[in-house]
Amino acid sequence: MGIVSVQPTAVASLPDVLDTLAPGARLRTLVRTATDPVTMVPLLAVRGTQAGPTVVVTAGVHGAEYASIVAAYRLAERGPEELAGMLVVLPIVNRPSFAARSIYVNPIDGLNLNRQFPGDAGGSFAQQLAIWLMDGWVRHADAFIDLHGGDLNEALTPFVLHARGDARAEELAHVFGIPYVVASGSPGHSYSGATALGVPAVLAEAGGQGSFSEGDVLTLVDGTERVMRHLGMRDGTVAPRATIAIDRFEVLTSDVEGAWYPTVRLGSRVEAGERLGVVRDLLGDVIQDVAAPVTGTVLYYVASLAINEGDPLVGVGA
Ligand SMILES: [Zn+2]
Repeated sequence: MGIVSVQPTAVASLPDVLDTLAPGARLRTLVRTATDPVTMVPLLAVRGTQAGPTVVVTAGVHGAEYASIVAAYRLAERGPEELAGMLVVLPIVNRPSFAARSIYVNPIDGLNLNRQFPGDAGGSFAQQLAIWLMDGWVRHADAFIDLHGGDLNEALTPFVLHARGDARAEELAHVFGIPYVVASGSPGHSYSGATALGVPAVLAEAGGQGSFSEGDVLTLVDGTERVMRHLGMRDGTVAPRATIAIDRFEVLTSDVEGAWYPTVRLGSRVEAGERLGVVRDLLGDVIQDVAAPVTGTVLYYVASLAINEGDPLVGVGA
């Protein structure tokens, strides 16, 4: 069967996709978000010829994390004959952020979408977008994979996050096969919103600084395919990989506006108290000596010289 074309307004949620798509068909359309203002975001769905679970994959919650967006499009390229169940891909959830190439926040309300989950239908744009994603899509899925990476200003070594205490999500995070698996207790993230709905979810990160290298794209494609294979949606077995569980993720922030001079290397082991870089004020004087709060691994750092008060500088996983 070929591609099913529908009017953009005909599909507004995952149950609509299930009603629209017969086994063995694909859907490529724009869907309306339940936000003010409404945005039209791309949807790529593939329904396998055999029955199986439904997985929702998103990217572009942060619109300038390009490897994740490229990976999401790539995942939807494989045909229904290779799939059991349904793959639903929303590759650019936060279209205003993608269009504006904005870092962390979306340009409509200045909020970071990945701090707004589960969202609020009566709130501002990002809060409305969050609950649209949760209630219309994630709630109806058997698993949820949110693809991210370092933002335009961030350098990052791949890692995957899950909500602490969610055993099913933790299992999927290790299956993903990226070395560093971080258990997070932070509220407001996509995976924590999904866990609250009883849907196991992981957030995988690869790439950064505006790049979308084939290696980073494949890291995210491969990890997602491993989870799908684990869930019985693709043929084959999942070869075990060594992963490192990280239970404490410390993000250091800047005290002031100024210039940030990182001295760390990605993925390097640092001792508690070891210098990770310095922040200089606008006159060039060192006013913040940034040291590792714990012994651990440098998972990401901000690679831009410009830094604002409260901005993240570096993340260390212990
Ligand atoms: Zn992100």
